[in-house]
Amino acid sequence: MFVTFPERLRVGKPLVVAIDGPSGSGKSSVSKAVARRLGLAFLDTGAMYRALTWHCLNARINLENAAAVEAAARTMGFEQGLTPDVDFVKVNGITVTGPIRDPKISKAVSAVAINLGARKELVRRQQAIIADCNHRIVVEGRDITTVVAPHAEARLILTASEEARMRRRGLQLGGTQTAAQLAEQVLARDAKDSTVVDFQRAADGVYTVDSSELDFEQTVDAVIDVVRRAVNEGPAA
Ligand code: C5P
Repeated sequence: MFVTFPERLRVGKPLVVAIDGPSGSGKSSVSKAVARRLGLAFLDTGAMYRALTWHCLNARINLENAAAVEAAARTMGFEQGLTPDVDFVKVNGITVTGPIRDPKISKAVSAVAINLGARKELVRRQQAIIADCNHRIVVEGRDITTVVAPHAEARLILTASEEARMRRRGLQLGGTQTAAQLAEQVLARDAKDSTVVDFQRAADGVYTVDSSELDFEQTVDAVIDVVRRAVNEGPAA
């Protein structure tokens, strides 16, 4: 049998790879592949915001009620797969891996993401997970390079043109969405999300990978190149 071993980078030392980017940039699948290639754990932080949104809707908590959503963030029982090959999300013991990807959740999630109290709690949980994984993990989201892991060994933004992002999200959803529905899910969501975190522009020291003209494998290679560069040369100039 042919087995591919992960690339050995900073063995026995911390290697946090922080990846931010807008929806449809290919962040999730690229981040998983990068984690596999480098033998690292994997954390999808968007799944946490989605899980909290699912939980609030399920418990009939009004998303406009900031204090109630914040309290829900603190008390929600939450489990998540932390390797690139184990994808599950549980809320209070209920498996919600599929339901949190529903367009209904994609539409509602920004209302939760703009709640600063809830963000603080989810960031705390994310930082605890990074520590539990001995700081050897790929973490993807919107505020990872700036808030969750500003001292990560490698920080990058994965971008793509609006056109490429809408095309990819459409394929992901099996071609069932109209152009207007895709625009709502991709562009309108990014616009709402941008009110709290700026994930479209790289902060100081953060590298940028633009995947508009790259296929999947090329994007993964480009990200791995950036990780090697960050490890060898430090933050982006
Ligand atoms: O990445 P994904 O599309 O699953 O993220 C869902 C939503 O969670 C985003 O639209 C954003 O509102 C929120 N989010 C966030 N900060 C993160 C990750 C996701 O605000 N670090």
